Formats: sequence, C-alpha cells, structure tokens
Amino acid sequence: MNGIKRAMATITTAEIPTLSLLYHSKKLLPATVDSASEAPISKPSESFNDRVGLIRGDITKLGVDAIVNAANTQLRGGGGVDGAIHRAAGPELLNECRALRGCETGSAKITNGYRLPCKKVIHTAGPIYNLHSKEESARDLAGCYTTSLQLAVDNDCKSIVFSCVSTGVYGYPSHDAASVAVGTVRKFLEGEQGDKLEKVAFCTFVQKDVDAYNYWLPRFFPAVETEVESDWEEVEAGSSAENGPAT
Ligand code: ADP
Repeated sequence: MNGIKRAMATITTAEIPTLSLLYHSKKLLPATVDSASEAPISKPSESFNDRVGLIRGDITKLGVDAIVNAANTQLRGGGGVDGAIHRAAGPELLNECRALRGCETGSAKITNGYRLPCKKVIHTAGPIYNLHSKEESARDLAGCYTTSLQLAVDNDCKSIVFSCVSTGVYGYPSHDAASVAVGTVRKFLEGEQGDKLEKVAFCTFVQKDVDAYNYWLPRFFPAVETEVESDWEEVEAGSSAENGPAT
C-alpha cells in the first residue's frame, strides 16, 4: 500500500536530485579520463551542478514549472511519453494542442498542464532519426532543446524537465541523443539567459537512457573538487545512478 502511494505521489522540484547531490552520494561517478575517448570534459561549475538534475521515472508525476513532451509535428497526441502526458492531463490538453496548428521538427510549443502536477507542458517535435543524415538529426534535436529552454524562460518557468526526446519510437540512439541533449543544455546555461533557470533536469525512463546520461552528464557537467572524495575506487561502476528522487 505504502509502495503504491509512494509510486503515485507527485515529486516536487526540490526533490529532483541535483548533480551535486548525485556526486556526493556517489550515485553519479565522475568521468574517467580515457585517452581513447573522443569526448572532451568541460569546465566544472558548482552553480550548474546545483541546478542541473537527473531523475528516472514517470515525467507525469513531476510537480515542476514545465515538462517537455516528446511530441510529433501534428501535436495530436500519440504513444510513449506523449500518450502518458495526454492521459494524465485530460482531454483539455488535446483541445489546446489542436489550436496550435502543429509544430515543426526541431521546434516547440507551450500549453497549460491541466490535470498534471506541472504548470506547463512544452511539446517539442523531435527528429525521426536518420542514420544517413546524422548531422541533420543532431541539429534538429539540439533545436528541440534550445527552443524548449527559450520557451521556458519566455514563460517565466524556472524549472524544466526533459523527457528523452526521439529515443523511443523515433529511433535516435540514446548515447548520441544524450550527448546532444546535455551539450545543448550546457550551452544554454552558459548563455545570456541561462541564469533565469533554477532547475533543468533530465527524466530517464528506460535503462539505455539511464546509462547514456550517466556517461554524458559527467563530461558536460563534471564534479567540482568538493563534490568528490578521494575514494572513488571503492565505488563499483555498476552501482551508478538509478537516480530516484532525493530522500
Ligand atoms: P519519440 O517518438 O520522440 O521517440 P517516445 O515517447 O517513443 O518518443 O520516447 C521518448 C522517451 O520517452 C523514451 O526514452 C521513452 O522511454 C520515454 N518515456 C516513455 N514513457 C515515459 C514516461 N511516462 N515518463 C518519462 N519518459 C517516458
């Protein structure tokens, strides 16, 4: 009974673990320096690590200012996370979406949250992954993240949580998608309007995305010295972040 109640409860913005907390609790491991890796490691920032979050679970349970829906260009609802969001929000959401007259791939539109615990839903149309045009896919996916972040700022949303756009039915490989997602968020936070956002989090759902974010977050948002202790060797790689809500 308790388990059911807990699973259904709304998770507040403050309860979404920050990277600082995940590093401290060793649920997120710093990037290992791997000379064969093509991934450069960005400059550590305590301010970013206090504002960027990671959680695994159902995005419809998050009581934040805005959640980002992996929608389609028609904005008519669908399967996956889109279906879950529409079911939880109720039919009023589809009515508002209909009036928006669709959304271009790589862009986003904003609606109210209706019966969801979040205030707003940002609907972004991710690219259907094209193996033969990886650059175009990456450009469109980056557009989804940048446009969504800009919409959040423009609508005074201070907290925003992203689903793993395009990594489901649209077939974007999780590792490549997470690299674009995390890199684009870092770039936005470094930009002029970055300090208007108090929390930007990633909501994973399936294991492949958990693994991808555990790899890329420490590369774009490395731990600062004070967040890590010297005994990392005691931590087994396999115990890495499941990223449930903070307790
Ligand atoms: P797309 O068509 O953009 O690929 P999908 O909905 O198929 O969209 O998948 C996007 C991501 O959403 C996938 O990583 C999937 O695991 C995840 N997902 C599905 N349901 C939920 C949910 N209720 N909460 C959070 N993420 C979800």
